[in-house]
Amino acid sequence: MNIVLLGAPGAGKGTQAQKLVEEFGIAHISTGDLLRAAVKAQSELGLQAKSYMDAGKLVPDELVINLVKERLQADDAQEGFILDGFPRNTAQAVTLDSELAAMDRNLDAALLVDVKPEVIVNRLSSRRTCRSCGYTAPASVDVCPRCGGEMYQRDDDKPETIQKRLDVYQTQTAPLVEYYRGHSILKEVDGDRPADEVYADVRALLTV
Ligand code: ADP
Ligand code: ZN
Repeated sequence: MNIVLLGAPGAGKGTQAQKLVEEFGIAHISTGDLLRAAVKAQSELGLQAKSYMDAGKLVPDELVINLVKERLQADDAQEGFILDGFPRNTAQAVTLDSELAAMDRNLDAALLVDVKPEVIVNRLSSRRTCRSCGYTAPASVDVCPRCGGEMYQRDDDKPETIQKRLDVYQTQTAPLVEYYRGHSILKEVDGDRPADEVYADVRALLTV
């Protein structure tokens, strides 16, 4: 099963991805997590990506595309994958299609986790992220329930940057909804509900 997750920042893509990974044993490929790991490791890529991320802007396509290409070749991605945070604009979507075609693979679904902007702003400003594994939870949680790591507020989850990220989503990423609708693989769930209820719909939509 090869899936792309779509939805605004804070829509709950990561949470749904985690549940799918647990149930179906496919690879979770989050470009945000990969980029944050690169920043933490101070690799060449991390150094190049950091200023864009802190500003809430998209990292240049060629950097992200190379990262994803490499990740798609890894052993654990051969049985299936969930792309979370990629593609984020039409150029990335077109590149993904041609990369997959070259590997004789294709996308089974583009799953939109739909949440209204008002809800997003509240969720993101109270969100904390695990430094070690990337798990996200509300601000009241200070130790990661998954790995015991330290929870912190991402630099880009501060109010100034949240609006910028939502603008970027609206102008650059939202058009992908129509892109995938046009390819007849778009599936939509209402993300403004408890995560387990959202997941029940996700499952029903994916396992036909
Ligand atoms: P969120 O979905 O919560 O905004 P992510 O963790 O997916 O967060 O991404 C964080 C940041 O990493 C983005 O704001 C952007 O700077 C960068 N990024 C992640 N994925 C991509 C991508 N596919 N293309 C360009 N930049 C990306
Ligand atoms: Zn953790």
